[in-house]
Amino acid sequence: MLSFEEARQRVLERVAPLAERERLAVKQTLARILAEDVRAPFDIPALPNSARDGYALRSTDLPAKGTIRLRVVGEVPAGQYYDAEIKEGEAARIFTGAPLPPGTDTVVMQEHVQRQGDFLDVPAGVVRAHDNVRPRAEDVEAGDVVLERGTFIRPQEMGLLASLGLTHVWVTQRPRVAILSTGNEVVEAGEPRGPAQIFDSNRYSLIGLLEMLGVEAIDFGIVRDDRDELRTAFLAAGEQTHAILTSGGVSVGAYDLVRDILTAVGVIDFWRVKMRPGGPQAYGRIGPAYFFGLPGNPVSAMVVFLEIVRPALWKLMGRRDWTPTRFRARLRETIRKKPGLMEFQRGAVTYTERGWEVTTTGPQGSGILRSMVKGNCLILLAEEHGDYESGEEVWVESFPM
Ligand code: AMP
Ligand code: MG
Repeated sequence: MLSFEEARQRVLERVAPLAERERLAVKQTLARILAEDVRAPFDIPALPNSARDGYALRSTDLPAKGTIRLRVVGEVPAGQYYDAEIKEGEAARIFTGAPLPPGTDTVVMQEHVQRQGDFLDVPAGVVRAHDNVRPRAEDVEAGDVVLERGTFIRPQEMGLLASLGLTHVWVTQRPRVAILSTGNEVVEAGEPRGPAQIFDSNRYSLIGLLEMLGVEAIDFGIVRDDRDELRTAFLAAGEQTHAILTSGGVSVGAYDLVRDILTAVGVIDFWRVKMRPGGPQAYGRIGPAYFFGLPGNPVSAMVVFLEIVRPALWKLMGRRDWTPTRFRARLRETIRKKPGLMEFQRGAVTYTERGWEVTTTGPQGSGILRSMVKGNCLILLAEEHGDYESGEEVWVESFPM
């Protein structure tokens, strides 16, 4: 049996990032991954500029006490450059974002001064040298790598790319991932369901998770526990996609054929992982496609996807920074647990005046999909740890949505 961490490492090690990339308009890059280092072609800001509406002046003119009267000799609206030097005893009206005129190094806010016609009275103490000025290059310096290859593109990265004047960037390819469910008992919603049958939920949860990652999910439907049907489906999926995701059929029952077929048409690593939910899992390859065989229970399938498959797909997509957000929360109930398995219970975490607090979402059976629906996080319970007492601090990991 592998520990959870060993299993995750092994799956990650087996995956290599896809080489292909595509060039996209910056507006279309949300949630994509940069395939190039992006360097700044110029400084941002390109010139020192005003952070306020007010008056630009020379800090050497500022009085130690009393008030100084300066002559207002010009005006600099945003978007214009004022190129005449502001001399001793002079000031210029300036607006937010406008470059400082030559000679000036400080902006006094308009609320802090008295304007009398062409003159400005600046009392001591309302402003210090260099106040209200955004220095040249305070955000970005020309030549800096401002975004590294492998960066996940959020709205702020889109904004930064545009601020560099870029219209298009190279992003990594979206992998195509085949998704299929196995099981004679599994039928598609909308079709008639026999008394001993269940509707397929895994394909829906997993397609949702895949789409949230930004991969292209290719639906291979439900495949019966039949050697020929599984073989045909696996081979077709291996030819059309970069990765294959299945659920069910990886335990040791007579109808758990996924391992046999994967062994026959590709290569397999089968593991029991010391985690709950999600014990048995199968990984491997069919030709160049990676194979991820998830357990059939709906909660197990989602948890194994989030914890083991997701980092592997991120690596496949060329993403560098993939650590999920984890934080500490105080348990509001006692949790019974035996040492030996890492557990991922489903929790509802809330922020209270005492800080983050978490409760479980009730019954935690791996078939109880509502334990996920009622929750907003996983509660991470360490492999070697026994019972957790109410009031103890635990790690929680928020669901991606
Ligand atoms: P298996 O590993 O194939 O024995 O499946 C374990 C459990 O998960 C069984 O109770 C299955 O009925 C259930 N299960 C398998 N596949 C699905 C699916 N696609 N949707 C919902 N439940 C499933
Ligand atoms: Mg099955």
